[in-house]
Amino acid sequence: MIKFLDLKLLNQDYEPAFKQKFDSFLQSGYYIQGQETKIFENAFASYCNISQAVGVGNGLDAIRLIFEAYKIMGHLSQGDEVVVPANTYIASILAISQAGLKPVLVEPDINTYNLKADTVEKYITRKTKAVLAVHLYGLVSDWEALSALTNKHNLLLIEDAAQAHGAQYQGQKTGRLGHAAAFSFYPTKNLGALGDGGMVTTNDPVLADTIRLLKNYGQKQKYVSRYKGFNSRLDEIQAAFLNVKLPYLDSINQKRRALALKYIQNIDNKQITLPYYTHEDSHVFHQFVVRTPKRDRLKKYLAAQGIETIIHYPVPPHKQEAYSEWHDISLPVTEKIHKEILSLPIRENLTTQEQDYIIEKINRFE
Ligand SMILES: *Cc1c(COP(=O)(O)O)cnc(C)c1O
Repeated sequence: MIKFLDLKLLNQDYEPAFKQKFDSFLQSGYYIQGQETKIFENAFASYCNISQAVGVGNGLDAIRLIFEAYKIMGHLSQGDEVVVPANTYIASILAISQAGLKPVLVEPDINTYNLKADTVEKYITRKTKAVLAVHLYGLVSDWEALSALTNKHNLLLIEDAAQAHGAQYQGQKTGRLGHAAAFSFYPTKNLGALGDGGMVTTNDPVLADTIRLLKNYGQKQKYVSRYKGFNSRLDEIQAAFLNVKLPYLDSINQKRRALALKYIQNIDNKQITLPYYTHEDSHVFHQFVVRTPKRDRLKKYLAAQGIETIIHYPVPPHKQEAYSEWHDISLPVTEKIHKEILSLPIRENLTTQEQDYIIEKINRFE
């Protein structure tokens, strides 16, 4: 059986370093907001080439806290509209709802699965205040066009970079492309912890300081709350583990790109649409997503050949039970994507033999 993912195996190389980190963590007696968190925030900021990085509890909270901070700063208010791709992972949309803002679902580009500026423009109203651009599957959104559009309409441009650590747009890494960015270190992400974790990056010190308070009960100093805050801190032990892995992020991404390139050059089946890929650095292949009208058959066929695949994601947000108010909305591009996509294994420890086997089986699919 070729597994889609094997987290234990993926983390095996780091085991001795993790154990060392755990020992010194245990000895330090400092379990929350200690040195490892500070070191990781600085290292991640420097990796993204940005001035501010704030560790938080997870990726969902990272997005939500950006919105909550902008509300406190007076840039957003209750009920403002936030444009978001309709095919994103549910967390992007939950973060907008939870912050008391209104998600406006926009059809993505069918080739890139990301937002397209001219489509976004059609959805802009007087109430639109922000665009949440998701770099889905690890591909950077069309940043030049989105920046021009958001500048023209005076909107905040926020990155959901939860799937795109280290991806670049014209030499600039995600995390510094808009006004603020949110990252997740959920174990399956390209930079994954051994539990939950998240980060906000920005060049705006006021935004960063507001989030530093918000994620810790709104406290400026212990027991003195300035805002009605949250409890969403990056766990110290997760920060320690992430300090071990961050130096390997570029090589992790490089391995995934090499696997993707091999798939792209060798999958030759007219029924299968391969992912959009032009520039090397723009994609970190968090997922390798193919598309075919025969998706369900392809998935079953591959399973019968011992190849595990996953659908990211089987149900679009507007068809989720949690958002029953959207069930009548028609989003044909999004619905087509959800019916046709399938993710192939692209974990960085996939062997040549395994990948050759997957390619051979896909090429034989009719
Ligand atoms: C994983 C993910 C999130 C949420 O991150 P968590 O750490 O799981 O809360 C948000 N947006 C996207 C696009 C994601 O893939």
